[in-house]
Amino acid sequence: MYTLLHGLYKHVTQKDEFFVLILGLDNAGKTTFLESAKTRFVKNYKGVNLSKITTTVGLNIGKIDTNGVRLNFWDLGGQEELQALWDKYYQECHAVIYVVDTGDRERIGESKESFIKMIKNENTRGVPLLVAANKQDLEECMGVREVKPLFESNVDHVGTREVMVLATSGLTGEGVVEGIDWVAQCVVRNMHARPPHDKEKS
Ligand code: GDP
Repeated sequence: MYTLLHGLYKHVTQKDEFFVLILGLDNAGKTTFLESAKTRFVKNYKGVNLSKITTTVGLNIGKIDTNGVRLNFWDLGGQEELQALWDKYYQECHAVIYVVDTGDRERIGESKESFIKMIKNENTRGVPLLVAANKQDLEECMGVREVKPLFESNVDHVGTREVMVLATSGLTGEGVVEGIDWVAQCVVRNMHARPPHDKEKS
């Protein structure tokens, strides 16, 4: 009886595990976005001072439970030499959050190029994609209407995957909860194509 109840308890409390890549150029705001999400979703999370975060070198990780699933985030460094490593994670991931610095017009072309490279990669085919038009709190930023066509012009490679371009600010929290919840719903909808990893106790 105990075993039966224990098994049932485990079944109810365990969550499907999904992996989400956070990509984008260095300085786009990836780490700040992830920290901002953690402070909003993780109970008792003692966040760091968001305005003190410096650019990602290497890998930052995070874990968020929402909509009945567990999302494991990999925030990868965006420097050119680190972008070569992104490839290694594509096969394993269930969704991508691509962060764009909308305050940096000079690098928007570079950001678009690395985005195209990523969606052209065979291993990201069909993977749901959130484009975070980030730093919307900046006065001179490009709005979603300006950013969207830049990233949607590659729709051939986007294929049939789910895509959303969303106005966000890691600093103010704009769009953060909406974006994460959307990703959580997408990975569940896409479960037949990319099944979750082994369940782990919550
Ligand atoms: P990463 O290299 O992509 O991980 O970027 P970081 O999260 O380290 O942020 C790079 C810089 O942009 C830091 O100075 C952040 O304070 C700043 N930053 C990040 N997100 C935002 C945002 O939403 N708005 C503004 N104004 N600045 C941001």
